[in-house]
Amino acid sequence: MEFTRHPHPTPVSEDRRREILVDPGFGQHFTDHMVSIDWTRPDAEADASGTGGAWRDARIEPFGPLSLSPAAAVFHYAQEIFEGLKAYRHEDGSVWTFRPQANAARLNRSARRIALPELPEEDFLEALRLLVATDASWVPEGEGQSLYLRPFMIATEEFLGVRPSNEVAFKVIASPAGNYFGGELKPVSIWVSRELARAGHGGTGAAKFGGNYAASLAAQLEATAHGCDQVLFLDPTRENAVEELGGMNIFFVFADGTLVTPELTGTILEGITRSSVIQLGRDRGLDVVERTVTLDEWREGVSNGQISEVFACGTAAVITPIGTLVDGEDSFASPEFDETSVAMDIRDELLGIQTGHSEDRHGWLYRLA
Ligand SMILES: *Cc1c(COP(=O)(O)O)cnc(C)c1O
Repeated sequence: MEFTRHPHPTPVSEDRRREILVDPGFGQHFTDHMVSIDWTRPDAEADASGTGGAWRDARIEPFGPLSLSPAAAVFHYAQEIFEGLKAYRHEDGSVWTFRPQANAARLNRSARRIALPELPEEDFLEALRLLVATDASWVPEGEGQSLYLRPFMIATEEFLGVRPSNEVAFKVIASPAGNYFGGELKPVSIWVSRELARAGHGGTGAAKFGGNYAASLAAQLEATAHGCDQVLFLDPTRENAVEELGGMNIFFVFADGTLVTPELTGTILEGITRSSVIQLGRDRGLDVVERTVTLDEWREGVSNGQISEVFACGTAAVITPIGTLVDGEDSFASPEFDETSVAMDIRDELLGIQTGHSEDRHGWLYRLA
């Protein structure tokens, strides 16, 4: 795919950029450019112009507001999917990301579920490379800092009828990121969502679909109202079966050396961090099992010492210990991590690989610039 280049006429000044990169936070500042690729359903296009449609007009252009019809399908029927991955600057100045082929594959799985078109992996990768090469000066180099890449796809057709959009846009934007939870490995407290679910069987839980996040927000408000940081969702059809947090998968370390995470039932999002933790756990000789964990097993395992660590994982925060769990009137705490923590050992290796400090045994790194 050929990308045309439209450089930003007035990029952010070097002084201002340096100031932002000192403490970028998360998702608040954006680089000077974005990548856009448009798609028109082949039949519709063939009628209009005879050119056959599909992905076209690939370009890098100034980051800025989009111009869309208020009747664009995405605003009404939420036909939207996204991805999230990080680019790290290594000591020699090169910039690398982590398993982007898995993000490309997941984008296409999400696309199939939301009736959006698939984007070839090589175009996805080229879009990332082009954006990061163009905005390379935005990749921070401080400890734990990265450039967060957010590819997404939206239905842009001006049409209120309910059917898959005939016009779609794929875009990638980038945002410098600091340490997600302020760099501290403070355990997060979690609220068990009993009334509200984020996903159901046959639904969209396995897709990285904006609507799943919209569905999780009211539960997040409940969590905040109860003094908790995050929400734990259960499988609404299986009593007390633990699924995941609003945007992170969950793992349990058992004292006998078993690492357990809920199996993929179709309602859980298959995290790339989750797959990587499974692999790094096996590399350590841990017995890694994907199976149902209930809240009762969790509570009992914590009280009789069988469960030694509970943690959440995802691209944004990597690995985060889970502390107190609040379930209505009931609450209990999972053990605190110490120096022998399996989760911290895996986290160190994962971050080590991503930042170029540990050996990339599995060939997970991908050079962007
Ligand atoms: C993105 C996401 C995750 C984590 O996936 P990673 O690929 O590890 O970042 C977990 N759960 C949900 C619901 C998500 O959307």
